[in-house]
Amino acid sequence: MDKNAIEVDRIFKTYADGTAAVNDVSFRIPEGTCFGFLGPNGAGKTTLMKMLYGMVRRDRRDETRVSVFGFDPVCDELAIKHLAGVVPQDNNLDAEMNVSANLFIYSKFYGLPAKEARPRIAELLDFMELKEKSKAKVNDLSGGMKRRLVIARALLNRPRLLILDEPTTGLDPQVRQVIWDKVRSLKKEGATVLLTTHYMEEAYQIADAIIIMDKGTRVIEGAPRELLAKGIESWVMEVLDPETMSMSGEAFSEGSLGPGVRREDGDSRAQFFSDHPEALRVLASRLPSGVTHVRPTNLEDLFLRATGRQLNDIQ
Ligand code: ADP
Repeated sequence: MDKNAIEVDRIFKTYADGTAAVNDVSFRIPEGTCFGFLGPNGAGKTTLMKMLYGMVRRDRRDETRVSVFGFDPVCDELAIKHLAGVVPQDNNLDAEMNVSANLFIYSKFYGLPAKEARPRIAELLDFMELKEKSKAKVNDLSGGMKRRLVIARALLNRPRLLILDEPTTGLDPQVRQVIWDKVRSLKKEGATVLLTTHYMEEAYQIADAIIIMDKGTRVIEGAPRELLAKGIESWVMEVLDPETMSMSGEAFSEGSLGPGVRREDGDSRAQFFSDHPEALRVLASRLPSGVTHVRPTNLEDLFLRATGRQLNDIQ
């Protein structure tokens, strides 16, 4: 069997103000895989990740277990710092310094001698496509470049574990694709990657397994494609203007949908789920063109089915 990089058994975190951020969560992450924590704002994703690298202390330490490459973050925080690279939610770069200098300062923190740091920095600037910007001030970089620089910084000490907290939030789709490509190549080189995101597409693209959280607890866990295959029909037809259905008489009542079609009504739309897209097209043909949209289902649909909430709900 594959070796686990991370093992977590039943961990909890309640903050001093009484917020129960993480409530009895367990998982295993095999070495060399990407594991995604997905869920709406406030679900507990960041708290959970911080407990893995020692930034937040878990509750009930003696009754629970966390192993990160054999180390417990509560007592071996430094060992974990040395094997992990962290990309926090905020870029926290030094705005006064140029791109190379930001990396150089950090290399000292890892104890890298200048002779090793210089070629490593050049290699990382090349890898993250920032070579032309090595002398640019941080303030003159675009949002996507800053993010790539923070990722380069997290890679300085060749981490076995890369921790990405919302790596692409607010970035445009092209930059997002570049970052996903880099994560895939790091994984190929053997790195284990942890990722929090509220973009289901991001999780689908780069995570081998995901845990979807809501209000501090696990809702679903597994490989994204398997979760979709098991948890929800393959296709959905959305009716963007449900009023139009009432004009079609009985055509959309429970008994006339056809076998294997399930209807769900939301605030401003109706949805019809099925494993057979042709059954949905028959339904669509009963409505004026332009009010229906047939598409494959995704993790967002699954999350909504499991919790009754949208992934991007703001709490
Ligand atoms: P996510 O990363 O999924 O958005 P977080 O782990 O940041 O979730 O937050 C989970 C819950 O814990 C939220 O209700 C948040 O307000 C609360 N929380 C996070 N950090 C703290 C803190 N330092 N003190 C008190 N409450 C916190």
